[in-house]
Amino acid sequence: LDPSDKPTSRRFIAEGDTVVVYERHDAMRAVAVRAGGVLQNRFGVFRHDDWIGRPFGSKVFSTGGGGKGAGGRAGGGFVHLLAPTPELWTLVLSHRTQILYIADISLVVAYLELVPGCVVLESGTGSGSLTTSLARAVAPHGHVHTFDFHEQRAASAREDFEKNGLSSLITVNVRDIQGEGFPKEHHGAADAVFLDLPQPWLAIPSVGLMLKQDGVLCSFSPCIEQVQRACEAMRTHFTDIRTFEILLRAYEVRDGALKSAIADEEATVGPLPQKRRKFTAPGENTDCTQKNSYILVRPCSTARGHTGYLTFARRLVYNSQTES
Ligand code: SAM
Repeated sequence: LDPSDKPTSRRFIAEGDTVVVYERHDAMRAVAVRAGGVLQNRFGVFRHDDWIGRPFGSKVFSTGGGGKGAGGRAGGGFVHLLAPTPELWTLVLSHRTQILYIADISLVVAYLELVPGCVVLESGTGSGSLTTSLARAVAPHGHVHTFDFHEQRAASAREDFEKNGLSSLITVNVRDIQGEGFPKEHHGAADAVFLDLPQPWLAIPSVGLMLKQDGVLCSFSPCIEQVQRACEAMRTHFTDIRTFEILLRAYEVRDGALKSAIADEEATVGPLPQKRRKFTAPGENTDCTQKNSYILVRPCSTARGHTGYLTFARRLVYNSQTES
């Protein structure tokens, strides 16, 4: 990722790196590796010195607490040490604001047509969740200029980008983008602009000036009224205006669930005929592939709901005589 010696581009863990300590898919945290440092969690005590020199992705075991575990390993509890990729960073960063999650982020990166070498303008920076993915998409020779009017938030974001090895790709600036627009130095230089602001329509005239011809704008807003006002402002200098809402739906998949699936269904509809027992969760398809072998698929109750709307628009291309 980063041409210099940063955790995201190196295979082995070194002192000073940030690693994502993975306990389970819903229990992870960022830890700065220090000589002599110790991590204590429900699985035991982990010494940072045992991590240094190991490849990212390693499974490491706790020391002490439980005597020798399986395979002669002290303690027996374990965690995985993962590199701070943008996907994981979004899950472990300190929330200083609302953030964008990976479902929205992936659409933003794809529809902003980001490739290595692109220049991107972003406001506001917030907690830097999106910024890390923008930076990876434009690496190694592109750049993200991100703006927030909140000084402390900008400073914290700068520190975070140092920690996760992306600082050479990102410049964090303090500026009121709704009041002042983006700075003149980026005039006509941006391949893409992303807005996550409460009144994006105020910044849109400036975005028109910053984008290269054919460049793409994306604006994120939680409310449809904000989207409508932003779209009105886009009409003058933009085309192909499209709004998306990403709704994530996770499914739980179980196989070999015949007994419990039949019991569940019989509890609702009464006894099923012996030879035609087939379970279908309400409103869902169930794939029944083999005799007596069922795959039960049902939506998880924890599925995330509405986060916001993503509006994309392309800057109009003018020929040199009509450009104003
Ligand atoms: N997209 C970010 C992320 O994924 O972490 C979250 C952005 S947060 C919801 C919105 C940010 O916009 C806040 O940090 C706020 O300080 C900033 N902001 C609000 N009004 C602004 C303005 N006029 N100029 C610059 N930043 C502004």
